[in-house]
Amino acid sequence: MKRMFLIELSVMTVLVLFCIYRSLRSKKEIAWPTACVLCAIVVPLLGNMVIAAFTDPVICNAGYILYLIGTNLVIFSLIDFSLLYCSYPHLKKVSWYTIVLALSIDSISVFLNNIFMHCYTLEETTLESGEIYYVLKSGPGHYIHLALSAVLLVMIAGYYIYRIFTSAALYLEKYLVIFLSILLVGILEYHNVLLDRTIDSSMIGLAIGGVLLYFFAIEYRPIFLKMALHDLLVTNMSEAVLFFDKDGKAIYANKTASSLFGITRDNMNRSAELMGEKVTGTRFLENHMCVDQNFRSQVAVGEGEDRKYLDVTCQRMEDKKGSYLGAFFGITDNTQMERERRESLYRQTHDALTGILNREAFIDQVKQRIGQEPDEIFVMILTDIADFKILNDIYGRDTADQLLLGIADQFRALVHEGSIYCRWGADQFAAFAKKEDISPRVLEQEIRESVKNGNNARELKFPLAIHAGYYEIRDKKISVSAMIDRCALAIAEVHDDYQRLVGVYDEELRQKRLWEQRINAELPNALKENQIFPYLQPQYDSSQRLTGAEVLVRWQHPVEGFLAPYRFIPIFEKNGMIVKLDTYIWEEACKILASWRGTVKEYLHLSVNISPKDFYFIDIYETFTELVEKYHLTPDKLHLEVTETVVMNDAIENIRTINRLREYGFIVEMDDFGSGYSSLSLLRDMPVDVLKIDMAFLGKTAHPKKAEMILHSIIELARQLNMISIAEGVEGEEQLRMLKGMGCNAFQGYYFAKPIPLGMFEKLAA
Ligand code: C2E
Ligand code: CA
Ligand code: CA
Repeated sequence: MKRMFLIELSVMTVLVLFCIYRSLRSKKEIAWPTACVLCAIVVPLLGNMVIAAFTDPVICNAGYILYLIGTNLVIFSLIDFSLLYCSYPHLKKVSWYTIVLALSIDSISVFLNNIFMHCYTLEETTLESGEIYYVLKSGPGHYIHLALSAVLLVMIAGYYIYRIFTSAALYLEKYLVIFLSILLVGILEYHNVLLDRTIDSSMIGLAIGGVLLYFFAIEYRPIFLKMALHDLLVTNMSEAVLFFDKDGKAIYANKTASSLFGITRDNMNRSAELMGEKVTGTRFLENHMCVDQNFRSQVAVGEGEDRKYLDVTCQRMEDKKGSYLGAFFGITDNTQMERERRESLYRQTHDALTGILNREAFIDQVKQRIGQEPDEIFVMILTDIADFKILNDIYGRDTADQLLLGIADQFRALVHEGSIYCRWGADQFAAFAKKEDISPRVLEQEIRESVKNGNNARELKFPLAIHAGYYEIRDKKISVSAMIDRCALAIAEVHDDYQRLVGVYDEELRQKRLWEQRINAELPNALKENQIFPYLQPQYDSSQRLTGAEVLVRWQHPVEGFLAPYRFIPIFEKNGMIVKLDTYIWEEACKILASWRGTVKEYLHLSVNISPKDFYFIDIYETFTELVEKYHLTPDKLHLEVTETVVMNDAIENIRTINRLREYGFIVEMDDFGSGYSSLSLLRDMPVDVLKIDMAFLGKTAHPKKAEMILHSIIELARQLNMISIAEGVEGEEQLRMLKGMGCNAFQGYYFAKPIPLGMFEKLAA
């Protein structure tokens, strides 16, 4: 009988040792406390084995000591285990010390039993099998030991009960299994005491409890918990999830899927259809839910505000042998992200003020379009508001912005569908359209209309002028910016023109630009090589005596031949290079005057032309006074021809300069008088000695009588203002006679002579 018990104990011990080994190999946090409980269980097991194996009362007593102290160790380690398993915060130090103290005192008390015999005595019993067995007869100390164990076990059980009642239902399983194991041990432990059996077999129960504890703590996976968690996870996922069986019948749709596609319990069998209504065009429909391969696609669903962007993933599900089981659909609602992406893209590609494309996006789209339709003929249009800066200054930014908004709207209406347009610069809008959609003539009309109707401009009471450049894209290889540059050149052609609003970039303009570039580049060298020189056009007084000449520039170009000023003067006036040319010609004139000094020609004067730009770029006064000093000339031999534009640009300053030149002794002539706008009022402000009457007055006119009267008045006016009048462009005797009759003082024109080289002039004067 004892042997049988011994065998049982040994088997249980080996089992517990195996569990210890397995626990120690586990990486779980609970593994170490589990191993401790199991190690503690080994101690009373060993004690019982000693009790069963020996017949010596001293050795058996030692076995009982091991057994009783071992149970204390078990309880101690079980508390430690349970605290972690139930996720209790650690016990308060006081409670912990109390428990340790109680168990320690109890263990010492067990030891002291050898002296006081207060816990138990051993009673030799002969078993039915005739074997001797020492039975423990409980004394008060043992009852205290049992009571302490019972209290602590109840406390431990309490942890689990508390957890069972306070945790989510899902966790019932986790705590229940351990609680039941402990309950089992408790029952086995105490039934022995209660039934008062000879051989204490409660140890077997303890060992079984240890093995169960190990199993539930280390090996057991809470399957229901796992499944329930999976289910919860899928049900509440923000991603829509649907499962279809191999016949295409829906077997599951989570909450998101249900609300997205309107799937309910009742219409579950129509899930594929419901999904198909929204997620059209995806492959799973074509394949009637028999998904032949995994796929992923982006789908837009709904319209306007309700539009949703979905990311659909479909996955085939197969068993291990590869047979088709069904399909899984995961649908993520990317609407928020997609909207943000679109908004940010919009911000990147659109102008913040007007909401139309910005320059970069325009360039991209135009490039794309040209690539897509290589045979189509396109045009590029650029519009520009004249004097936008002034407008900005006068009315402020907000008003100017309003104006731009209005223009953007009009621009939108102006271009046809399929055109691309953008805000190119501050006050510039660009459009790219099919040639057949818009011609320069139509564009001109539309701009005129839009300016007339544009209430913004009317409110401003500002003469709003919008010019446009039109370029038919013949060279598709040039960059979009280069196309816009061509439009800008075309605008420059009409910029100062209030009649023409649209400039067209064509071959003529291109040639003109090329010519300009060439002439600009060649000027310095031309001056150095004396390709540029003065011609002189004689001037006469009323007795037909030669009085001097106007100096007119000529360019003997090595390739282009003899160039008249109109071929190059306007170009140099535009970019300021005129200064170089003029100062050169002035100096040439001074050289000529100097060469005449002391000869018969000493009495002749020379008139030089001064461009308005000269006033802007150099100190005219300083330049002329230095020249006169350098060549030792009397200033009245040099006549300075200025035009009324000079006073219109920077009136006060320029009038001051002219006055100083006159005070110095120069004769100042007003050139082309009568050709401009403000001639008469100008005479009041502009201090000149000579009025040079524009040849337009001598030209052919429908009202010769009126022209004559005006001419007469001008000459009369000059006389009364103490100015000398000179008529230029005199071509015939009749004209000369008439002018003389009117009292004109001097004459210049083809009637007398054309502009001629210096040598010829000198012969004339000799
Ligand atoms: P402008 O100062 O009015 O010069 C008079 C122009 O009329 C000259 O043309 C002259 O050849 C022309 N002309 C003279 N008599 C007659 C005539 O009887 N009939 C007709 N149809 N034309 C006549 P040109 O030399 O071609 O000069 C054109 C313009 O170029 C000048 O007009 C002047 O504004 C400018 N220009 C010429 N040389 C210079 C210069 O050295 N410096 C600057 N800044 N401008 C110059
Ligand atoms: Ca002149
Ligand atoms: Ca003139």
